[in-house]
Amino acid sequence: MENQTCGILIWGSFSVACIATLVALIFRLRLKKQFQELTRNQESLEFALESGHMGTWDLDLIHDTVSCSKEMLELWGVDPQTFQGQRSLLQGKVHPEDLDRMNEALNAAIKDKSVYELEYRLIPTPGIVRWVVSRGRYVFDPKTGNPTRFAGVIYDITEKKKREEALAEAMKARDQLFMAASHELRTPLTSLQLLLQVNQWDLNHHFPEAFTAEKISLSINKQLHHLNRITRIVDHILDETRISEGRFNMHFEEFDLGEMTEYVLDGFKITADFSDVKILSSIPKKIVGTWDRFRLEQVLLNLLMNGVRYGNKNPLYIELKKDHEKAYLTVKDEGIGIRLEDQDKIFNCFERVSPAQDVRGMGLGLFISHNIIKRHGGEILLKSELGKGSEFTIVLPMNSLSLPDPLI
Ligand code: ADP
Repeated sequence: MENQTCGILIWGSFSVACIATLVALIFRLRLKKQFQELTRNQESLEFALESGHMGTWDLDLIHDTVSCSKEMLELWGVDPQTFQGQRSLLQGKVHPEDLDRMNEALNAAIKDKSVYELEYRLIPTPGIVRWVVSRGRYVFDPKTGNPTRFAGVIYDITEKKKREEALAEAMKARDQLFMAASHELRTPLTSLQLLLQVNQWDLNHHFPEAFTAEKISLSINKQLHHLNRITRIVDHILDETRISEGRFNMHFEEFDLGEMTEYVLDGFKITADFSDVKILSSIPKKIVGTWDRFRLEQVLLNLLMNGVRYGNKNPLYIELKKDHEKAYLTVKDEGIGIRLEDQDKIFNCFERVSPAQDVRGMGLGLFISHNIIKRHGGEILLKSELGKGSEFTIVLPMNSLSLPDPLI
């Protein structure tokens, strides 16, 4: 009987031990599986975080420390070895202009138990600015149900910001261009309209004195003057658009710069006469090179127009010279001149520095001219003194065709 009881006990203990081992085995297997799953999840999470330039952060509200993913520390330029959860180390990397805004938003979200979301700048290393967006919310302790942590994600939006800024800049430039253009077009359009209305009135009222050859010629000259102005403004708008979109093409050909200069001066005579400005020139022939004729005509005309507009009705001096490798075309006036500190600025887009309020303009002519000359591998030199006049010299290599690809 005793033996029987002993046997049952041994058998019982053995069964219990077997069951316990089996349970432990199953438990270990499940644990292993869970661990593998967790590792897989962790790897996927890390991959997702890495691909999305994203990091995670977890703020312990009781101990005021932060734990961060390695992606977040990378984003902030913080060495994971030295980082020991100090918030101050992270705050030190926030752009000084954004730090107060960030602290206020985070503290408000913690206080109101609301969702935190903010875009701000970081300086991970001196000289580098990175835009990030951070989102977070309360995490409740599963045991007590108390909010003890505030956790979230952060991701890099620098590229997006750069694109947004470039777009905003382009929109601003476009608005500026259209505003300047409509403002500029109003004067010649109104003047043209008035001249045509006067002609129409004279015709309707059978007013023969208004139609002598001299009066008709004067009226046509005035109308042509306004039409030229309108054409110039429209050309400037189109050129500015082409330059900003990188579509400003050049067509190089061989021609005589002396002959081209004479041709432009000949066409410019009407404008100079109309404005009572004398043109004095020294233009040798046979300065042959390879350039874009149409564009150089445009640059010269622009300098001549400026010479008339800012020249106080004094004569304009045009000179063409060459040495063995370059051609030099100079337009000199004795007008209002340009202050030394403004002399670089005037080649920028929409830049106007003239104190002459009555002279209208969009500040595009020299910007376009400068781009054209740069595309020829040349430069525009300026000598000017306020109140004494200005001298613009276009310097051109004799063969612009041999240039490498576009320089702008
Ligand atoms: P705008 O149509 O406004 O004249 P430009 O690009 O041709 O545009 O010139 C830019 C600015 O440079 C002008 O607004 C003017 O202030 C200055 N400028 C250009 N040419 C002369 C000149 N010959 N004398 C004095 N100022 C000049």
